[in-house]
Amino acid sequence: MTANEAYAELVRRAKELGVVNSCAAALGWDHQTYMPPKGVVLRGEQLSFLASLAHQKLTDPKVGELLSAVEGSELVRDPECDAGANVRELRRAYDRATKLPPALVEELSRVTTEAQQVWELAKKKNDYASFRPLLGRVVELKRQEADAVGYQHHRYNALIEEYEPGTTVAELKALFAGLTAELAPLVQKIAAATKRPDTTVLAREFPIDRQKVFAEAAAVAIGFDFGAGRLDTTAHPFCSGFGPGDCRITTRYNPHFFNEAFFGVLHETGHAMYEQGLPAAHFGTPLGAACSFGIHESQSRLWENQVGRGRPFWDHFYPRLRQTFPTALADVDADTFFFAINDVRPSLIRVEADEATYNLHIALRFELEQALLSGDLTVADLPGAWNERFEALFGLKVPDDARGCLQDIHWSFGGIGYFPTYTLGNLYAAQLMDAAKRDLGAGLDDDFRRGDYRRLKHWLGMHIHQHGQRFRAGELCRRATGAPLSPQPFLSYLNEKFGALYGVC
Ligand code: ZN
Repeated sequence: MTANEAYAELVRRAKELGVVNSCAAALGWDHQTYMPPKGVVLRGEQLSFLASLAHQKLTDPKVGELLSAVEGSELVRDPECDAGANVRELRRAYDRATKLPPALVEELSRVTTEAQQVWELAKKKNDYASFRPLLGRVVELKRQEADAVGYQHHRYNALIEEYEPGTTVAELKALFAGLTAELAPLVQKIAAATKRPDTTVLAREFPIDRQKVFAEAAAVAIGFDFGAGRLDTTAHPFCSGFGPGDCRITTRYNPHFFNEAFFGVLHETGHAMYEQGLPAAHFGTPLGAACSFGIHESQSRLWENQVGRGRPFWDHFYPRLRQTFPTALADVDADTFFFAINDVRPSLIRVEADEATYNLHIALRFELEQALLSGDLTVADLPGAWNERFEALFGLKVPDDARGCLQDIHWSFGGIGYFPTYTLGNLYAAQLMDAAKRDLGAGLDDDFRRGDYRRLKHWLGMHIHQHGQRFRAGELCRRATGAPLSPQPFLSYLNEKFGALYGVC
């Protein structure tokens, strides 16, 4: 078999696996949206059948033979050409999947399923003790996973690799150190500012049917293609790209709080536009897939915060919002509304945090999960360590574990190494926005004031979406912005925006 034939067979198999995974995604979306409750057992069987079929296809020894037949050939000499990138990333996925012993995969799946159920109850009852043994088990199994797949310097590197290939704990530590050193004092200055927004205007009556119409109009305006997607309602909002021509997003409406659904929709639309912008011809192969979790999150945060919480966006949308909600907003001027949606205050819960304090929540989790994995911190000491560090960062006392170390689902499903991707998303978003403004000129804000987002969307398509996994995240950022990732663009953005709003800095 020639290298060309081997590569063609690899692509055929990858596309087949892409189809299997998209079937699972469609069933998973239905599970969260419209499936009747009694369908849950059958759905479990369908999904576990597809998961094992996908695993079989991914770890088939034939894939290893095909990869070996292509590697070293002329076809992949340029690691960033089509075949070079596809083979590089297929090798990564194949190695990772085949290095894990089946017994460990099974045990991880069993323990994390149980841990998620126990965590949910433990959070409800504020009972960390009931979750502790399972968390200990998860941490131990993740150590075994890291040892099985291999790593350099630190076990944590093996786990980050699942979400952010090519990024190391050393790089993350440097980013977080630079970020937190400036962010913590900025947040304290804002917290101490006497100028405060009136956030009660966002907690008035916002009828759900009108919220839906308005949010959909905003999603269309920024570029979501409803001919290739849907917006539905779920308890926990998400975006699921099935493949070319079909990407589903969801949100959750709160009739007494405007921000929840609206900014949730902008966020998920950002994810969805990335999915809709991936090159359809490469579906199933790495070139047709998103680069990393951090880059994915940069697309959602860019539209949600950099654009959607910016003044030019609301210069266009606020008059329309007022028409949509005449009762709630009759006496609220644009300045009051804009200040309210940019409320910054230290708070206990990550998912409710504003764009400035949010990253301190992540810094805390990043520190603690490294310590858990290395054994410097035991699961028994986690609540104490959490509360102490939280108070140092936020100046707030944690009243109970439900609002402390039990608040997130991530550790229960084994997602150690996942949290940093949220902050990477924020940092990438700011740096990309700077680069887009530099490339497209100051007129970009004028586009936004007219409700025109086409040039920004096109820029993101050219610099991010169309590349799939051709480049690793760090290289993609360097090519798009001309520099490696740095916390500075994000910090400058925060200082400028919140300095003006709160009269600090
Ligand atoms: Zn997201």
